[in-house]
Amino acid sequence: METLTFRRDLSQHPKSETERAEILDNPGFGNYFTDHTAVVDYSVNAQGEGSWHDARIEPYGPIALDPSAAVLHYGQEIFEGLKAYRHADGSIWTFRPEANAKRLNTSARRLALPELPESVFLDALRELVSVDAAWVPSGDGEALYLRPFMIATEPFLGVRPAREVSFRVIASPAGNYFGGELHPVSIWLSEHYARAGRGGTGEAKCGGNYAASLAAQLEAEAHGCQQVLFLDPFNDNAVDELGGMNVFFVFKDGRIVTPELNGNILHGVTRSSVLEIAKERGLTTEERKITLQEWKDSVADGSLAEVFACGTAAVITPIGELKTTTGSIVTPEPDGEPHWKAIREELLGIQTGTREDTRGWLT
Ligand code: PMP
Repeated sequence: METLTFRRDLSQHPKSETERAEILDNPGFGNYFTDHTAVVDYSVNAQGEGSWHDARIEPYGPIALDPSAAVLHYGQEIFEGLKAYRHADGSIWTFRPEANAKRLNTSARRLALPELPESVFLDALRELVSVDAAWVPSGDGEALYLRPFMIATEPFLGVRPAREVSFRVIASPAGNYFGGELHPVSIWLSEHYARAGRGGTGEAKCGGNYAASLAAQLEAEAHGCQQVLFLDPFNDNAVDELGGMNVFFVFKDGRIVTPELNGNILHGVTRSSVLEIAKERGLTTEERKITLQEWKDSVADGSLAEVFACGTAAVITPIGELKTTTGSIVTPEPDGEPHWKAIREELLGIQTGTREDTRGWLT
């Protein structure tokens, strides 16, 4: 297993305890960053051999990039997102980080970026969280959001994979995403914009996918919705995913269906965890194509029970309604305790340490 030792160049100007406490009092999401960042650089030598080197922790701050750096022109960039949770005994845990390491490398292959050894990814997280441990909040539903990313830094305007790359991790305290009672959300159906096409970058976590989703997101907001649902218009309007979450359907006969990993959608870590928990709860899991028409039909014939979205940020969010230009598909009122609630409690419980981690998901 490849290892690199992280040099520590610690900040001479970390936030004071008072400043940090003020931020942790109401962090919101993505607004504030910790005192440090983890960095590992990559370059290709004259013999054409690439290597990762100069692993370090350095003070958080602006990155000096040449204006011709490839990432600024051709968007050769990928990222990840996961959280560190503080348990009641003060210990700090991440949820299935090796899955994020693997997904980063899936994205790297698609964007022609170098793969990062899994051990280096995990060490970067561990190093950053240990120097900035005081930033991991302990309140209900709070966590330290970790954002690993990789950018093409080579100053060169030719269109080819960059030979200089930087991998970095930044961290941002995140408040309680839910703020009390969890209400079903309305989502907007994107009819004019697709997020991904066959052979495209849908299953990679690259910045371009999110840039491409913003016009649809604006449309959603104009219609009072927080999130967008994307379909695959070249595949019978099969349901793909939301702008930042995977989607699940629960049927009254005990089936739970989620779109298959068809190359268009992100391999959500929460998605795969929900599938495992659902199976253990005795639900029949199906990963397959589910079309907009089946969604409509199953509401009309009364067979659909629940629709929910899942992802690291909000864990699980029930979907109450899909709004479209021609009307709404409304999820029926729950008949008893919904499955999404129990699955969410199990997941959150493991993450925050109030339930036993029997599957070895915590690191
Ligand atoms: N789909 C997309 C497009 C996303 O951005 C995310 C968030 N990473 C997800 C699904 C959910 O993935 P995860 O459960 O790994 O957070």
